[in-house]
Amino acid sequence: MSNCKLYSDLVSNLFVTSKPRYLEDIPYVPATLFKELDLISIPKEKIFKTMTSSGTSNAAKSKIFLDRDNASLQTKALVEIVSKEWGTKRSPLLILDNKEQITNRSSFSARGAGILGFSIFGSRRFFALDKFMSVDEEQISFFINCIKNTKIMYGFTSIIWEEILEKLPSNANILGLQKAIMIHGGGWKKLSDKKISNKDFVSLVKEKFGKNVIVREYYGMVEQTGSIFMRCSKGFFHINKFNDIIIRNSITLKPSSKKEEGVIQVFSTLPTSYPGFSILTEDLGMILGYGSEEDICKCGTPGKYFLVNGRLLNTEIRGCSNTYNR
Ligand SMILES: [Zn+2]
Repeated sequence: MSNCKLYSDLVSNLFVTSKPRYLEDIPYVPATLFKELDLISIPKEKIFKTMTSSGTSNAAKSKIFLDRDNASLQTKALVEIVSKEWGTKRSPLLILDNKEQITNRSSFSARGAGILGFSIFGSRRFFALDKFMSVDEEQISFFINCIKNTKIMYGFTSIIWEEILEKLPSNANILGLQKAIMIHGGGWKKLSDKKISNKDFVSLVKEKFGKNVIVREYYGMVEQTGSIFMRCSKGFFHINKFNDIIIRNSITLKPSSKKEEGVIQVFSTLPTSYPGFSILTEDLGMILGYGSEEDICKCGTPGKYFLVNGRLLNTEIRGCSNTYNR
């Protein structure tokens, strides 16, 4: 708190600052503040990387400032979380995007940050799109023909849908029976606006890439890069040792009970160079269970699991910001 004046002002003006006992007692930063302010807890000369949210070019973007230590914490957490799904072996990696996303090494969009983070899992890296965002068939066939029989693909959900799945011929079945995993996340709001469900997404991936492809979505945000929530085989997002969530009523902001829809507040143990460990998002969701013996997810993973249902409507967001500006 003492390292970021803006954060310290926010906390002392809006929250009771006695020692927090429960997650819900921990002060939060509304996600929109990362768009409006430069929230940073380190001297400016220590900035190693700046990340920005994706989103339309004219909308304000969140800015996240990382020093080297924080950047490396993010990588370590991501490796640990994804390795649980896929093991630690490196495999040929098809990035479902273009190289241009990572050409500037000091400033990244959420898309670029994701690509760079997941690159660590690739023994060889291929980009499925060229700089004009057209499908690069040659690169895809290099990837398919790699002799290793396990393969990994990574991309931003909305880019995969719009630029790849919708453009590949139907019944493309490009990976046939090869063992592969596709990990995707981000930009899901665009798909939910179009009423495309996760089920629709998975079935189109299987149609175009092959029925053996395992599809795993994650929920995460640029403000908490690294500590992503993976979606399990039963369709639910799970917390892990780097993160947690609670749900708040979208009007009263009081903590909601199980199976009650509200605004998602996310926690991450990773942020050290900016005050991002507790953030009130603009996403709606609900907790399905706390993962104790009687309400464990059908996939068998212990711990809290939840669904993301959509986004607060604009009017509601304005309502919320008014509350914060008090
Ligand atoms: Zn599960």
